Amino acid sequence: MDKMQIINEAEQVLMHTYSRYQLILDKGDGVYLYDTDGKKYLDFAAGIAVFALGYNNKEYNDALKAQIDKLLHTSNYYYNVPTLNAAKKLAKASGMDRVFFTNSGTEAIEGAVKLARKYYFNKHGKADSEIIAMNHSFHGRSMGALSVTGNPKYREAFEPLIGGTVFAEYNNYEDVASKVTEKTAAILMETLQGEGGLYPADPEFLKKIRALCDEKGILLILDEIQCGMGRCGAMYCYQKYGVEPDIMTTAKALGCGVPVGAFAAKEEVAAAFVPGDHGTTYGGNPFATAAVSKVFDLFESENVLENVNEVGAYLAERLEEFKAEHDCVKDHRGFGLMQGLEFTVPVKDIILRAMDKGLIIIAAGANVIRFLPPLVITKAHVDEMIAILNECL
Ligand SMILES: *Cc1c(COP(=O)(O)O)cnc(C)c1O
Repeated sequence: MDKMQIINEAEQVLMHTYSRYQLILDKGDGVYLYDTDGKKYLDFAAGIAVFALGYNNKEYNDALKAQIDKLLHTSNYYYNVPTLNAAKKLAKASGMDRVFFTNSGTEAIEGAVKLARKYYFNKHGKADSEIIAMNHSFHGRSMGALSVTGNPKYREAFEPLIGGTVFAEYNNYEDVASKVTEKTAAILMETLQGEGGLYPADPEFLKKIRALCDEKGILLILDEIQCGMGRCGAMYCYQKYGVEPDIMTTAKALGCGVPVGAFAAKEEVAAAFVPGDHGTTYGGNPFATAAVSKVFDLFESENVLENVNEVGAYLAERLEEFKAEHDCVKDHRGFGLMQGLEFTVPVKDIILRAMDKGLIIIAAGANVIRFLPPLVITKAHVDEMIAILNECL
């Protein structure tokens, strides 16, 4: 099939929920992707922060192949060893006590919000809890996750959504505090907002929110679906801030390509769930958790965090330089390997030109380019990316 035929047929049969780029990806190797014509692309998107270890990692692939030959799925009615191993590693990495595996980030948010509501219900004996979520946040597309997503563009056509959500201004402590009532069960936020335009939490803000939650008996839920799994230079971004949530969510790079997410919580909070409160057929099956388990091992053996801190600092340096050289660049934000440049103009054309020149980057809103490379990139890859980006302006 030629390229246009594939695109035309896909446009016939797939729902029109994306304006896709005219690019048919065929295979990946390390930090490079290849299209069906064999053209090579330096990948600074990693499938939206998913392929942390790069493409075609042999040890990861071998672990998955071995699990396929053994057992793919059992349901959660029984125990299996890969799920146990993955849960232990995730609990240790996140500082949480108990884990629930899901199939996506959205479902992790659903579960986290359900857990917070159940905890409140047990504590207060009534079902009238409120969640405070942030403006410009993104937590997913299901009705529940959309209910806590602070972007009217995504929500409008799908109202009425699930009630009991109050929105507050991110990084504005006074505003968040003013929204707290005796019904507030949880405050939910991304530690570093991704979709919303690459805005990290202010350290002071996050610390004060943690103190507010402690004082009022409110749960802090941190969504680490995009910024977690090493992307910010710690296994979870909140560890960079020295702040711990009561419930956290993770997905994207958790399985490095295998669809899997999780929410995890401290023992006292997790204890609110009893058998029958929550469930999933696929979630945490041995195939998905064999991937999770191997991902955690490879993060250690390949010194991924060290690389993120070193190359992330270098990327920040080069992006600052880039900003100084170009008037159309307004701001540089983020850290680790989750950084963004805000332009004074829409970035769509820049992204298309970059693609033409063999570089894959993505936007976060109309004016922001997001840099989310595989976490195994080197400084030479950063130089290669900057050189192409320079040609695109
Ligand atoms: C991607 C994302 C989600 C949704 O995850 P899916 O796997 O797409 O369901 C939720 N929260 C944040 C912060 C995300 O970046």
